Amino acid sequence: MINITKRKDAPESLAKEKAKANGSYREEDVVLALFEDSHNKCYLCEDIHITTINVEHFHEHGGDKDLKFDWNNLHYACGHCNFTKNDTFKKGDSNLLNCANPECPVDYWIIYRIDHVS
Ligand SMILES: [Zn+2]
Repeated sequence: MINITKRKDAPESLAKEKAKANGSYREEDVVLALFEDSHNKCYLCEDIHITTINVEHFHEHGGDKDLKFDWNNLHYACGHCNFTKNDTFKKGDSNLLNCANPECPVDYWIIYRIDHVS
């Protein structure tokens, strides 16, 4: 996991879709912006060969429209990671690293270990 910088301005469709009764947070402009800002990688496993693209909520929205359409809560993820993480992290959980938060130095918190097997 590496830190990423998401664009400041949310894609236009988010506000429009939020105003609808059954709006979508997965419109093309959202997916494209997440794709570009995430460098075409799942924000959790960094896989670049994603076959099932998901727009993942960092904090589960539980039907809360503010969280559901919050640009800062959306991430580009593979289906595996989205399914594995599921909706287990509520807003306020402090044990989840947010790679899009500049105040969360993921490189400091994650220790990479490579073992040589001969
Ligand atoms: Zn993944």
